[in-house]
Amino acid sequence: MDRKTGNIILIGMVAGAILGVLCGYLMGDFMLQLRFLGTVFLNGLKMVVVPLVVASMIVGVTSLGDIRTLGQTSFKTVTFYMATTGMSVLVGILLVNIIQPGVGIDNFGAFVPDVVDSSRGKTLIDVVTGLIPSNIFQAASSGKILPLIVFSLLFGGVLSSLGEAGKPVIQLFEGINKAMMKIVVIVIYFGPIGVFALIGGIVAENRSSLDQLVSGMGWYIVTVIVGLLIHAIITLPIILKLFTRKSPVQYFLNMGQALATAFTTASSTATLPVTIECVEEKNNVDKRAASFVLPLGATINMDGTALYEAVAALFIAQIYGVELSMGAQVIIFLTATLASIGAAGIPHAGTVMMVIVLDAVGLPLEGIGLIWAIDWFLDRCRTTVNVWGDSIGAAVIGQTSEFSKPKLT
Ligand code: ASP
Repeated sequence: MDRKTGNIILIGMVAGAILGVLCGYLMGDFMLQLRFLGTVFLNGLKMVVVPLVVASMIVGVTSLGDIRTLGQTSFKTVTFYMATTGMSVLVGILLVNIIQPGVGIDNFGAFVPDVVDSSRGKTLIDVVTGLIPSNIFQAASSGKILPLIVFSLLFGGVLSSLGEAGKPVIQLFEGINKAMMKIVVIVIYFGPIGVFALIGGIVAENRSSLDQLVSGMGWYIVTVIVGLLIHAIITLPIILKLFTRKSPVQYFLNMGQALATAFTTASSTATLPVTIECVEEKNNVDKRAASFVLPLGATINMDGTALYEAVAALFIAQIYGVELSMGAQVIIFLTATLASIGAAGIPHAGTVMMVIVLDAVGLPLEGIGLIWAIDWFLDRCRTTVNVWGDSIGAAVIGQTSEFSKPKLT
């Protein structure tokens, strides 16, 4: 897609979002009927995710050349992602202690939402065992991306060790990767209408909780949003500039379509195809780095989610009048970081994973019910930051020494 068309589509997406909010608020029933147009867009993105993740990881891994380079790149990627997630959680914990949004709010209306209830008792051990798929097709059909990534890493690594015998298979996946990216471009053309219909539908559906955005939960929402903004417009741009010398403003504008899609879909995974397109084609990040780093980022790197989980846990503690010691806050720091890694890139996943954080410090799960009503909105905000963080990770890793060498295969 050329730059001019890309810009027109981006403007269309932003206009679609604004119009969607207005129409959703003013003529909700009509927008609920138009919702299927949004589902068409969303399904279009989702349909390429599984083949794209597998092909992209395999192409990424095999183009890294040898197992040592793969090891170094994986290590750097995971370290970078963990470090930035840690920074964002720290910002969240500091803010929630300063603003104290939960003090003086009563816990009337606390309940455990169904989807959270089914995750009761989930531990970090479950997250680890879930990494190895017992059946890759089942993982694919149920949209479990992380196990697919683990399999593709292994598959790609083994393929590149096969020499001549592996080459045709690698070429096949290179072709699949390219074809999927072409489909993504076609789907993006539908973006403005998709964004309009999805945002309109979600606003129409949540009209009744819109007043909470400005009343009781106001300070909580402010805390989350200020935290996300600090991470997105101060921490991450500084990192981008320091490591890559790229202009953060230009990088941000080039990511526009992906960020608009993230806000609209509340899913890093569904956004992944657009993220790859923006990072590779518009921001010119090394394709070998992007195709390896981005699928990983969409599933394990969630800066916004981690910040959100820490803020929400401390907010619930404040509502229940529970004084959390320094030690307990350190536990929240660690579990929020780990829970964000384990959260799937789908709507509400971060809030469901709060079970782990709350359990770790003995807070009542019912507290989740207090924040559930506005999760549809905060989920969008944190998903946008998640995707922004992934894209910066790709730029930084693309700048490292492994990618200054020419492609080997
Ligand atoms: N919706 C988020 C994402 O896809 C995860 C979350 O619920 O925080 O990145």
